[in-house]
Amino acid sequence: MESYILSKSTYIRGLQCHKSLYLNRHRPYLRDKLSEEQLAKFARGHQVGKIAQQLFPGGIEVPRPGKVAAQKTADLITEGCPIIYEACFIHNEVIVALDILVKDDLGWKAYEVKSSGQLSETYFRDARLQRYVIEGSGLSLQSFHLIHRDLEKDLDENIPLSDLFLFTELEPANDELMSGIENDLQLMKEVLLQPKSPSVVPGSQCMKPYPCDFRTVCWKYLTEGDRDNLLNLNL
Ligand code: SF4
Repeated sequence: MESYILSKSTYIRGLQCHKSLYLNRHRPYLRDKLSEEQLAKFARGHQVGKIAQQLFPGGIEVPRPGKVAAQKTADLITEGCPIIYEACFIHNEVIVALDILVKDDLGWKAYEVKSSGQLSETYFRDARLQRYVIEGSGLSLQSFHLIHRDLEKDLDENIPLSDLFLFTELEPANDELMSGIENDLQLMKEVLLQPKSPSVVPGSQCMKPYPCDFRTVCWKYLTEGDRDNLLNLNL
C-alpha cells in the first residue's frame, strides 16, 4: 500500500497558507489549543456524520484512516461490500477518508457529510480532492455528492431521516480541475521538504476560510492594531 504525506485537512490547510502547512508538519507543538467552541463543532460534526450514515444503513465501517484502513477498504470493495463508511483511499501520497461509499446498479457513489447548513467553496475543494484521490487510486465513481443539514429541520424531529439533509452533486471532473489539484499538491510537497518554514506575511489568509491555529506564534510581532484588523476579517 502506497505511503502518504498529505491528507484532506492538510491539503485545505496548505491552500490557506503554506507556512501553516509547514508548521503543522514540522512544529505541531506551536499550534494554538482548540477552543471549547471548536471542540463542540467537531463533536457536532461527528454526531451528524453518524446520523447521516443511517441514510444508507447496513454498511461496514473502516477503522481510523491509515494504510491498514486503505487496504481494508480495497478488500471490502473487492469482496463486493455495497456500503462502506469512512472508506479510506491513498493516491499520489494523499490519504482521504470518505464518509459513505455506496454501490448501486449504476456504479459507485460517494457521499461526504457536512454538519453545517450551507456549502462553502472549501467544502467543494475538499470534495474535489477526495474524488481525485479515490479515482486516482483506481475506483471509478459514478457520482460524488455533498450532504449537508437542512437547518429548518431539527435533528430531534420525528421526521424521515432523508428530510433532515440536502444533497448536492459535485460538478463532473475535468482536466483543468484535476491538473490544478496536482499542481497544488506538488507545491505543498515541495514546501514540506524545505529546511525551514516559508516566509509568509500575515494577512487575510490568517482568518479565511478558517482562523489559523498558529496565530499566537505567527502574529507575535504584529501591533495590536494590526491584529485587530485581521481578527475583524472573520466577523
Ligand atoms: S497565522 Fe497567517 S501567516 Fe501565519 S501560518 Fe497562519 S495563516 Fe500563515
